[in-house]
Amino acid sequence: MERWLALELASTIRHDGDGGVADDLSTVRGTTRWIGERRDLLAGQLPIDGLVVDEGLRLELVGLRQAVRALFARAVSPAPPSPADAGRLMTAEQAIARLNRVTAREPVAPQLEWPVEGAPATRLLSAEDDPRVRLVAALARAAIDFLTGPQRGRLRSCTAPRCVRYFVKSHGRQEWCKPSCGNRARAARHYRRQRGAAQGGPAHS
Ligand SMILES: [Zn+2]
Repeated sequence: MERWLALELASTIRHDGDGGVADDLSTVRGTTRWIGERRDLLAGQLPIDGLVVDEGLRLELVGLRQAVRALFARAVSPAPPSPADAGRLMTAEQAIARLNRVTAREPVAPQLEWPVEGAPATRLLSAEDDPRVRLVAALARAAIDFLTGPQRGRLRSCTAPRCVRYFVKSHGRQEWCKPSCGNRARAARHYRRQRGAAQGGPAHS
């Protein structure tokens, strides 16, 4: 399955399995773990071995996530956004300005790499020394790539009860982020129909 850094950043706000919302970036320790688990996705973009996560970096990632989620809400519109932050989204203009401000902090030069055996690839040569700046900028670039790529049209907000996830549809009729959400949504629909029938009213779907 294809993975997108921008989607994974947005998904750090998630259903906690108990009717509430959990935030993987709520502490420095959680943020360190989240970055460590994305070592493979970040490899080649920046050296994360020397990266020390502090409260400042955590807050920058949270700020970038706000921008990404606001733009995800715009991307799925007119369908409703994730209910996790639907009532407190920044405007699209603010979100775009924030993304662009973050990427501008790391000037990069694309470099062509083409090994004798293998495919040509782009490597970004950075003039920035601070790995924290590079990390946030890399995530912002990933968000720009995501929003300007074909996957934007397949981005959805899961409408299953209690789910707060954005996901990229992998096939045409996919309505929910994962099978368990589909089961929950169908059960809820069934329950509403039953209740409608029991009350003698019209069944709602
Ligand atoms: Zn879901």
